[in-house]
Amino acid sequence: MLDSVAEEIKQIWNETLADIRRELSESDYDAWFSKLHLIEIKDDIAKISAPSKYVKDNVTWRYADVIVNALNASGCQINCVNIDVYDNNNPETVAKSDENKSHKTFAETTPLDKKFTFKNFIVGKPNEFAYAAAMRVAESDSPAFNPLFLYGGVGLGKTHLMHAIAWHIKEKQPHKRFIYLSAEKFMYLFIKSLRYKDAMSFKEMFRNVDVLMIDDVQFIGGKDTTQEEFFHTFNELVNNNRQVILSADKSPSDLDGMEERLKSRLGWGLVADIHPTNYELRLGILQSKVRKHKVKIPNEVLEFLSMKITSNIRELEGALNRIVAHATLVGANITIDMASDVLRDLLRSNEKYITMDLIQRKVCEFYNIKLTDLNSTKRQKSIATARHVAMYLAKQLTTKSLPDIGRSFGGKDHSTVIHAVKKVKENIAKDREFATNLEILTKSIEN
Ligand code: ADP
Ligand code: MG
Repeated sequence: MLDSVAEEIKQIWNETLADIRRELSESDYDAWFSKLHLIEIKDDIAKISAPSKYVKDNVTWRYADVIVNALNASGCQINCVNIDVYDNNNPETVAKSDENKSHKTFAETTPLDKKFTFKNFIVGKPNEFAYAAAMRVAESDSPAFNPLFLYGGVGLGKTHLMHAIAWHIKEKQPHKRFIYLSAEKFMYLFIKSLRYKDAMSFKEMFRNVDVLMIDDVQFIGGKDTTQEEFFHTFNELVNNNRQVILSADKSPSDLDGMEERLKSRLGWGLVADIHPTNYELRLGILQSKVRKHKVKIPNEVLEFLSMKITSNIRELEGALNRIVAHATLVGANITIDMASDVLRDLLRSNEKYITMDLIQRKVCEFYNIKLTDLNSTKRQKSIATARHVAMYLAKQLTTKSLPDIGRSFGGKDHSTVIHAVKKVKENIAKDREFATNLEILTKSIEN
C-alpha cells in the first residue's frame, strides 16, 4: 500500500518535472529542479524537499507557481507548495534543522496567466493611467505608491494588470518575493489558519514578501475578522516599506461593508481607475488578438464588434473567439452578417444597455432641446443637427434596422436615417469640435 503511494508520487513528480523542463532553459532547470523531491501531497499542499536553503528560497519565490501549475496539469489538485531543506542522508525526508524551523516557507501565490503581460496589454485613453501606474510600480526598487489601488468594472483588465506587474517583477527583479492572490483565497487561508490554529504561519507567509497583490478586495467587505487581519497585514507591510497592490470593482471610498478607517487607509497611496472601454480601445484589442491568432478577419467585422460589444473586454474576446470557432468549424467566411448571426444573444444583451430612449434623452440633454422637437419635422438647424446625431448614434450603438430607427423618430422613413448618418459622417470628417462633442456624447450614453 505504502509502496504504491510512493510509486504514484514518483510518477507524478517525473511527469511534473518533464513538464517544467519543457518550460525552462536547460541551465535553470538543472540549477533549481534537478535535486528537488516531491515528498507528499496532503490536502491541497505539495510538500517538496530541496538540497539547501538557497535552492529552497529561490525555488519558492521564483517557481512556486510553475510547480503548482505543472502538478495540477499532472492530475493533482493543489493550491500551494511547501518546500523544505532535506536531510543530507535521505533526500526524501525533510531535515529537522533550524533552517526549516525558523523559516517555514509557504509559497502561496496563485498561478499567473501567461497571456497577462504588459506586452499583451493594449493601452488606450480609458486605461492609460492605470497602465502607467502599474508599470511604475513594477519597475521601481522601493514602493512607488503604497498601496497602488486599481479599480474598475468587470472585465476591464484589473487582473491582467496585476499579473503583468508580477511577470515583470519576476523577470526584472527575480530576487523580489511576491504573492499574488485573490481576496477570496486570502480569506480562505485565514479561516483555514484559524481552524488549524496555525495563525503564525499565515502571518509569516505574508510578512516575508516584498510585494503583496490582492485581487478583488471588495470581497473582504462585511467579513469582520478577515477585514481585521487584512488591515494588520496591510499595515505591517506598508510600515516595512513593502509594496502592496490591490484591486477592486469600486474605489476605496465606495467599498461596501468596509470599515471607515480601512477605506481611508486604502486611499492613501495611488488610486487608479480603469474606465469603461471606448471604441478605439476595443478595436485596438481586437486587431492585436487577430494578429496573434493569425486568422483573417475583415476589418469591417472588427469595427462592427467594437461598435456593438461595449460591455467589457472579456465579452469582446469571447465574441471574437466564437466567430473564429464558428468559421473554422463550418468553414464559413467571416462577414458582418455571419457575426450578427453567431452572436445574436450577445448583441442583444449588449444592446440592453443602450436603448433608443436613452439615446434620445441624452441627445436632447446635450443639445438642450425638447424630445417632442427631436421627433418632429422641424428643420431649424440646432434641432436638425441633434436629430441627425441621434439617428447616427442609434445606428452605431444599437442593432436596430434603419426602418426601425426611422419609426422611433416620429415615424420617419429609412432614407431619412441614411441621410442623417451620411451628414454626421461628413461633419465628423470636417469639424473637429463636432467630432469631439460626439465622442463625449457617445461616452455619456455608453456609461
Ligand atoms: P478584470 O480583472 O478587470 O475583471 P481581466 O483582467 O480579467 O478583467 O480582463 C478580462 C479579459 O480582457 C482578459 O482576457 C484580459 O486579457 C483582457 N483585457 C483586458 N484589458 C485588456 C487590454 N487593455 N489589452 C488586452 N487585453 C485586455
Ligand atoms: Mg479580475
